[in-house]
Amino acid sequence: MNSLSPIPPDLAGAVLSIDLSAIQKNWRYLNSHAGKSECGAAVKGNAYGLGIAPVAKALWQAGCRSFFVARPMEGEELREILPGATIFVLDGLFPGQAEFYAQHNLLPALISIEEAREWAAFGRIYGRKLPCAIHVDTGINRLGFSLPEYAGLLADTATMRDMNVTLLMSHLACADDPPHPLNAKQRDAFNVARSKLPGVPASLANSSGIFLGKDYAHDLVRPGIALYGGNPTSALANPMQAVACLEGAIMQTRNVETGETVGYGATWQARRETRIAVLGAGYKDGVPRSLSSRESNSPPQVFVGGRRCPIIGRVSMDMMVIDVTDLHLPVRRGDRAEILGPNILIDEAASWAGTISYELLTRLGSRYARLYSEPDSDGMT
Ligand SMILES: *Cc1c(COP(=O)(O)O)cnc(C)c1O
Repeated sequence: MNSLSPIPPDLAGAVLSIDLSAIQKNWRYLNSHAGKSECGAAVKGNAYGLGIAPVAKALWQAGCRSFFVARPMEGEELREILPGATIFVLDGLFPGQAEFYAQHNLLPALISIEEAREWAAFGRIYGRKLPCAIHVDTGINRLGFSLPEYAGLLADTATMRDMNVTLLMSHLACADDPPHPLNAKQRDAFNVARSKLPGVPASLANSSGIFLGKDYAHDLVRPGIALYGGNPTSALANPMQAVACLEGAIMQTRNVETGETVGYGATWQARRETRIAVLGAGYKDGVPRSLSSRESNSPPQVFVGGRRCPIIGRVSMDMMVIDVTDLHLPVRRGDRAEILGPNILIDEAASWAGTISYELLTRLGSRYARLYSEPDSDGMT
């Protein structure tokens, strides 16, 4: 483990360990599942909160060459880290910013005729047909050319002539729900769009899309969450390795009598004499307040001393409380409890908190120590 964090683990209270070799294993696994298709990586949002620089370098070492960010600023940052990467900006071309994209060799995923005309016009000034992707909307109704607008673009020969379209892409709305009829509908619409730009590489699948079958893989797949340990096969066991491990340190243990309550609002009441432990991690550290205890058969839990213990009372800004009565071994001040990691998977914790793994990861706070395990350097193991 090496620390890229200015915060020493012993002083931070909470520690976030990021397993770079697990990210590499996940990329290789997805690459092997994508058949002949190239496997890229979505690294927007600071690599889903896990740190763009170490994550992008580890992916590059594993063999990844095509990267997707959301914003031009994220692209600029990634360009410094990976001079040789192909970098697509998913939010398209920002007005008046073509020169910025060209300077940093960023490929906008163009979403409208306006953007395409601006990119082609800048290419004319620049003296070079600049590379880009075309993003068609096949049914998610979010970003991209509608199919009639796409037909309009193809008919605009002056614009098409003055740019270099290196990728045709679209995005699935329901890939995490394989039987959903919109998947096949989007795939078929995408195939019609592809037939109008023969020879241009195509990309449709995100993480879950890779598991919808060969006819979703096309030429390039764009996984994000699965690289970071999220389950891309919602109905099946998670084939991915856990990447992020968030641990809180125990600050104090104490006994609570039957009938007493714990935490703000006195929302949890002891039904027996209870041994509690107070962990130094709270919502400031990215532990959602919605992980607070509630009456249910599957209460939110943490992992400590070799087993799961329920979270009790409300998660507060800097701390949370767990019930360690049933632990066989005593836990002590300074011991760490896993809030997310190999034993508490991000999808499970997210569902307790009423959210998704994406939001959980991207909201992880900045107050803990971040420890990165060394990536595999040869890329072959
Ligand atoms: C974020 C994103 C991805 C990656 O999605 P995951 O579900 O995290 O695999 C792929 N394509 C586009 C357009 C995206 O915005």
